[in-house]
Amino acid sequence: MDMFFMEGPDPVLTRSDLIRDPSLSSYEKAGGYRGLRRALSGLSPSDVIEEVKSSGLRGRGGSGFPTALKWEKVANHRVPVRYVVANGSEGEPGSHKDHFLISRSPHQILEGMILASYAVGASQAYLFVKESFPEGVSLLQNARREALSAGLLGNNILGTGFSLDIVIFIGPAAYIAGEETALLEALEGRPPRPRPKPPFYPTEMGLFRKPTVVNNVETYAHVARILADGPSRFRERGTQKSPGTMIFSVSGSVVRPVLVELPLGFPLRRLLEDYAGGPLPGENFQCFFTGGPSFGILTAKEIDTPLEYDALRAKGTGLGSAGIIVLGSGDCPVATSREFALFYEKGSCGQCPPCRLGTESLHGLLEEVEAGKGSLQTLDRIRRVAEMIKGRGNCGLITASAYMVQSLLQHFPALLEAHLGKGVRPEGERIPCWHYDRFVG
Ligand code: SF4
Repeated sequence: MDMFFMEGPDPVLTRSDLIRDPSLSSYEKAGGYRGLRRALSGLSPSDVIEEVKSSGLRGRGGSGFPTALKWEKVANHRVPVRYVVANGSEGEPGSHKDHFLISRSPHQILEGMILASYAVGASQAYLFVKESFPEGVSLLQNARREALSAGLLGNNILGTGFSLDIVIFIGPAAYIAGEETALLEALEGRPPRPRPKPPFYPTEMGLFRKPTVVNNVETYAHVARILADGPSRFRERGTQKSPGTMIFSVSGSVVRPVLVELPLGFPLRRLLEDYAGGPLPGENFQCFFTGGPSFGILTAKEIDTPLEYDALRAKGTGLGSAGIIVLGSGDCPVATSREFALFYEKGSCGQCPPCRLGTESLHGLLEEVEAGKGSLQTLDRIRRVAEMIKGRGNCGLITASAYMVQSLLQHFPALLEAHLGKGVRPEGERIPCWHYDRFVG
């Protein structure tokens, strides 16, 4: 199925000249590598961090952590070796932005990584992309080759004495490989299993136990624009606490599944009505998973919520990686949650027993409810399992799976009870679609 790309009102990363063609010549014609030239010719590494800090950029991979703070922590370690890593794994259901950026503007990501490496003092960086995205791998490899031959990467970049290589790392396709410490394990040649944290986070002990910056590929692309146009230009869009733009992917029961870059704080209603074409004919919106399944449900009543970290958190959900899955009146939130529970069960790496057993149990219980075989005790067991497993694993997957079912229990108690004891699967158990093969437009 196709996902449509539409140009937003004032795009930064997806400006038509920046995404017209993935080649170096096209990117440079659009002002590409201007930020890098500016930084290497006149800014110190700490000046670069200061510019990113004044922009207020927050990571676009899910947590919204301030990017400059992470960089500062790594730069401040008095050690000779530090690393920069880009997470291009994109596995959250409903999120398609990273693959879009890799497909249309790979140099923008590389430029941001080179700037980050200069800022924190790294001479080796890695860009993780999944083996299940071979087109992305070859576009990135090609972009790396072009940057090397143009002297923008490799030894003595632009004659400044700064040297860096970027390895395009082809990683496993497993969902959990996108968790930042699992990704580091994969880079070190081991199976992708999240590391326990605390005590040590990647900024202290990351790749090969060295201080490491791990950012999402969209975050690096923003860095390239911030250094080219200045932090105040970045702050002209978005809100005070969530400045800048983000690439939103809307999938599910809408007329036009769409990918569009919008300023943070843009109202969900306008995104769904002006860009995604509204609900399917004859239907209304029922609810939304605004940050994929991991952040829980936003009901249709809350459609005027601004799309930014804090407003969504205040409603008990989140922005995540801006993959919005829409459920229309013809979709079943119970069946959809059961499908998500299966996703978490399959996605669990299995190293923490509460996660291995809990995700399996939540999926089994939801399946019982969906099939009309559940009782009030089943709902109570779902509640207890979710409460019991929250926060009891090495990574956020366990808590995300618990939170997703708690959100279902909170918002759809009557619907869940309507499923109980029917003995047959209720009619019309439709699940919205969030898988797309290619981008159009
Ligand atoms: Fe693996 Fe689950 Fe533990 Fe995360 S919480 S490390 S996915 S077993």
